[in-house]
This record gives sequence, structure tokens and C-alpha cells, in this order.
Amino acid sequence: MSPDLVNIAYLAAASLFVLGLKGLTHPRTAVRGNRLGALGMLIAVVVTLINQQIVGYQVIIAGIVLGGLIGAIWAIKVPMTGMPEFVGLCNGFGGGASVLVAGAAFIESSLRSSGNLEMQFSAATVVSGLIGAVTFSGSLIAFGKLQGMVSEKAVRFPADHVLKALLLLGSIGVGVMVVLDPGDVNNYWYMVAVASVLGILLVIPIGGADMPVVVALLNSYSGLAAAATGFVLSNNVLIIAGTLVGASGFILTSIMCKAMNRSLSNVMFAGVGGEPPSDGPAMDDIYEGKVKSTSADEVAMLLDSARRVVFVPGYGMAVAQAQHAVRDLTNMLEERGIEVEFAIHPVAGRMPGHMNVLLAEADISYDKLKEMDDANTNFEQTDISIVIGANDVVNPLARDSSDTPLSGMPILNVDRSKTVVVIKRSLSPGFAGIPNPLFAADNCLMFFGDGKQAIQDLTTAVKEA
Ligand code: NDP
Repeated sequence: MSPDLVNIAYLAAASLFVLGLKGLTHPRTAVRGNRLGALGMLIAVVVTLINQQIVGYQVIIAGIVLGGLIGAIWAIKVPMTGMPEFVGLCNGFGGGASVLVAGAAFIESSLRSSGNLEMQFSAATVVSGLIGAVTFSGSLIAFGKLQGMVSEKAVRFPADHVLKALLLLGSIGVGVMVVLDPGDVNNYWYMVAVASVLGILLVIPIGGADMPVVVALLNSYSGLAAAATGFVLSNNVLIIAGTLVGASGFILTSIMCKAMNRSLSNVMFAGVGGEPPSDGPAMDDIYEGKVKSTSADEVAMLLDSARRVVFVPGYGMAVAQAQHAVRDLTNMLEERGIEVEFAIHPVAGRMPGHMNVLLAEADISYDKLKEMDDANTNFEQTDISIVIGANDVVNPLARDSSDTPLSGMPILNVDRSKTVVVIKRSLSPGFAGIPNPLFAADNCLMFFGDGKQAIQDLTTAVKEA
């Protein structure tokens, strides 16, 4: 294939990546965006395979078939709640691939030229190996925490920050040796080993619930490692794709931190999620004698006279897989002339867009989904807000107090609706581990039970009312 043709194909692939990312900015265009990105990747892979001096295709084809099969089966089987760990592990494999590909190219060139390599080539190999190794080991720990195989707690020990700084300096030091003496290829693997330990220690002290932010950050790292590998292989499309992943992963990380009103350094280094937070008011002081529980029949009676209802989904809706039951109830309420909307908090659930994906899976129209700022303008005019498995994202302490882990996080002001019905199994706290005064508010009724069962019971009660 002529170099011009290859570059034109790579340009087409890169353009498809950009169009794909643009499509992913809105749920309505996300599926098309995903397909465009996948098409771009197919073009890039096919052109690279035709263009490169491949010794034999057997191993490559066997790898594609086996890897593709495992990936496809896994992606189909993984439940929505398991998506963060799935994505986390895929990032890790990306980092690991960068370590191996850059390392193989480096070793081959070093042996061929008896260690006479250009500094730019060795430096790109070092960047790829270092970031790739941190991504690989860090992602394995993130996966383990999300799967419950590694302690979900923020594991801290004395002087852990100092040790991490030493490991970072150590891996950079060995990396400099790789650049200065590219003939000694063992140094590359020493650097990878030190960086792998650093990756473990960077993620171990972060609490399990913060893992989605870590996964987004590691996604960004895997992109940077791939871009560096692109420089090693002189492959333009890998440089472009890696940079796009690096930038978009970092933007996503920033958006998540902003929505939680936390800085990235607070997520990475503050050890949130170690011991339960001691600050904030005690549960008993808030709930004692003030919590009113309700039943499906009572809520159905309230719905009978309601004109506007807003559903507020949270992590518990994902756990209960209640989205299809919610759609059935929505349809029934709309048939009775009730206006129904969904208020979506940007960090509801455990990953960005978690609620949007679940509701889309249940064919709930995007037009009914209102983002936080928009939704907050309408709670005063809402007869009933039905909170399903959400807790932190509707906790008024975030808005009204200054000394809790949630303080400052913007919330959905459901407490301003005429009546709030909260569906959850108990008075247990959410991710932040603090009580929620909403549950004790005068206008709040607690409907205790599993999210899906409660909505199904409510649908039956509405039908019979
Ligand atoms: P929360 O974690 O605050 O609360 C979820 C609630 O769901 C729990 O209180 C639990 O109560 C209830 N629940 C669990 N299982 C069920 C079930 N089967 N049926 C009914 N209820 C159930 O969730 P939110 O969505 O309100 O908030 C998300 C939190 O996660 C925020 O603090 C956010 O900062 C954090 N976070 C979000 C990320 C994201 O990207 N979305 C990333 C990282 C952190 P009970 O046990 O009583 O049923």
C-alpha cells in the first residue's frame, strides 16, 4: 500500500473517531457515535495489517478470533451494574498492550542496532512502558475493588505518600537509564516492575465507591500510553486515537469530580472511604420519631389526585433493576393524564450516565429526562417526587450544611415538591455514609422495600385504585 493511501485511510479513521466522540455527547446520537468510532477502528486495524511487514497472519488471526470472542461474550453477559469493572479491566489491558508492544519494538530495534537507538525512540518507549504499567496494575486493583476481590476500603499506611513519590522517582530514574543506555534492555523491564508497584499503591488507598472516577482517569492514562506507543511505532492513527482517549478520559474525570464537588487530588490522595465518616449529624438525632412509612395503596391514592410526578432514580434502581417496572408505571400514569418526568443527577449511580443508560434500556423517551439544573426549576410545581434508590443525590445536608462529606455537592431539590415518596429498603445511608434529613421531612413518606418489587406493587395498586 502506498504511504499516501495509508495516510488518507488513517485520516478517515481519525475523522470517524472525532465524529464518534461528538455523537457520544448526547444519548440520542450515542449509538451512531459508537458505530462511527468502531468503523474508524476497523479501518485503522485493516490498513495497519495490510501495510505492515507481517511475518505471518496465523497468530494475529487466532488472537483476533479468540480475543474478539471472549470480549463479545463478556460484553453481552456483563450486567449494567458491572460495567465500571468491565471498562476498568479493558483499560488495564490497553495499558498492558502498550507495555508489551512498545517493549517488543524497543528490544527488537536495540538488538538489531546493537543498542544504537535515537533518543526520541527510547524516550517514547519509556513513556509508553511507564504509563502503561501504572495503568495495567492500577486497573487490576480497581477491578478487584469493584468486584469485591480486593478490600473496598481506602487502605492507608504510614508514609504511603512518601513511598509513592519514591516509586515515581525510581521509575523515572530507571527510565532515564533506558534512554541513556538503550543497549541494556533489562532496564526497561525493571522500570515496568517499579511502575507496576506504583500503580497498585496509587489505587489501593482509594475507596471502592470512588473507583468509577479512578477508572475514568486510568482510561485517560491508557490513551496516553497508546499515543506514546504510536510514536514508538511511527503510527499516526495510534497517536491520534491515544490522544483523543487521553483527553476525553481526563475531561470525564474532571466532570465527575466537579459533580461530586471534590477535587481530583481529594479523590486520589484523601483516602475517602476508609473508616465511616465521623462528622455530620448522628442518625438517631435526625430520624427518631419523625420517619413516616407508607404503603403501595397509600401512594396509589396520592397519585390518583396528582397532576405532575417526577421520578428520581439512583444507585438502588440499578441494583434492583427496576427500570422496566418504572417504565410500566410511567405509561400507566401518563394514560391517566399525569405529566411524568425523570430528574437525573450527574453522579447518580456509580458511573457517568448510569441512569440515562438504564432508562434508555427500558425505552423511556429521552425527552422525559431532565438534567439537574433544569429539573430543579420545577420541583415546587411537582405534586409527587418518587425517589427510587437514590440517597446522596437528594440529601439536603449537601445544600444546607458545611461540615459533611457531601457539603457543597449540588443536589436535586426533591424536598421542595409537595410530597416526596422515597423507595429504599431501610434507612441505611448511601455512598457518603451520612444520614439524610429528607427521610424525616414533614412532606416525605418512606416506602420501604426492594425498588423493583415496590414499583410493581405500586403499579398493581394504581391499576386497582
Ligand atoms: P447512594 O449510593 O447515595 O444511595 C443508594 C441507595 O440505594 C442506598 O441508600 C440504598 O439504601 C438504596 N438501595 C440499594 N439497593 C436497593 C434496592 N435493591 N432497592 C431499593 N433501594 C436500594 O446513590 P445515589 O445514586 O443517590 O448517589 C450516588 C453516589 O455515588 C454519590 O454520592 C456519588 O458522589 C457517588 N459516586 C457516583 C459516581 C458516578 O459516576 N455516578 C462515581 C463515584 C461515586 P438501602 O440499602 O436502604 O436500600
